[in-house]
Amino acid sequence: MRSGETDCPMMRGARLHGVGDLRVGDLPRPVPGPGEVLLKVAAVGVCGSDVHYYKEGRIGEQVVRDPLVLGHEFSAWVAETGDGVEGLEIGQFVAADPAVPCGRCECCVEGNPNLCPDVLFCGTPPVRGVFSEYVTLPAENCFLLPDGFGAAAGALLEPLGIGMYTVDLAGMQAGHTVAVLGAGPIGLLTAAAARAAGASEVYMTEPLEYRRKFALEYVADVALDPYQEDVVGEILRLTGGRGVDVSFDAAGGAETPNEAAGVTRRGGQMVIVGIPSDDVMALRTFTPRSKGLTIRLVRRMKHTYPRSIRLVKTGMISLEPLATHTYPLERVAEAFELVGAYGDGVIKAIIEIATEPPIG
Ligand SMILES: [Zn+2]
Ligand SMILES: [Zn+2]
Repeated sequence: MRSGETDCPMMRGARLHGVGDLRVGDLPRPVPGPGEVLLKVAAVGVCGSDVHYYKEGRIGEQVVRDPLVLGHEFSAWVAETGDGVEGLEIGQFVAADPAVPCGRCECCVEGNPNLCPDVLFCGTPPVRGVFSEYVTLPAENCFLLPDGFGAAAGALLEPLGIGMYTVDLAGMQAGHTVAVLGAGPIGLLTAAAARAAGASEVYMTEPLEYRRKFALEYVADVALDPYQEDVVGEILRLTGGRGVDVSFDAAGGAETPNEAAGVTRRGGQMVIVGIPSDDVMALRTFTPRSKGLTIRLVRRMKHTYPRSIRLVKTGMISLEPLATHTYPLERVAEAFELVGAYGDGVIKAIIEIATEPPIG
């Protein structure tokens, strides 16, 4: 131990040490630098990407080499403000965008911080994530939550942001019909954002029965099983042969891009938000080419938090139903196992880290 570290305040945190090896222990508490705030974490959502790191130790070229705190979907209280921070006060409850773009590159200057090649992202190696009692972030990453906004809902604003931006890319209009392939958290939240944007009919497909049931209760008019039904034929039939205006592939399956193309109307939009686990998208071109589809790929999100917060505040989108399971930090590995196994009807597992704001 280096001199000076002995009296540094500690905190509890979970670090991934290797494949399937998630350990909760004491870690040094971070100190906010100029323009940063120290956040006392309330709730963190377990994301599919966290589980990928847990099971495989990597996502593509992003490899966990040293013990790493994962996690990026969270709500928190402001616990301390660094030099020069204005407009935030200790005790305020916020949701925080886990991405810190450089602000100077061509993409950032053009207003596309989600494309910044130098972005620092919580819980992506080597950047420390938020399965811990405290985290530091720039003040501008924090978005005040209105009174009564729940901690789990605050954490779910991050995946909702992906759904919101996915819908932004589709150029949706009120009355459009949509298909969403995949009823995991991102598919469900994309469908919810599409509803809020004025979708008149929402068709979903999902192989897991409990998720089809959830989708029907939460947002979908129809939820089809792609393993048992001809989903393309069925959605075409339900739309009078025309197809939907917009399709979203939120599954990243081997066939879902072709299904998305198959259910979309001529001249329609198709947006790919699901990430194939083998990094391959095998899209046959005849259908999308002959229909003249516009195909877009989603890279994270931008400028979504204030809109998402308003939609939740006004009741146009409800997030609480997705938080099906809650665990304390000490049992974080159990939550990862549950999510990885699609066990017990899980949609989103939430790690509840603190229930009280900081004193001060
Ligand atoms: Zn996530
Ligand atoms: Zn940048």
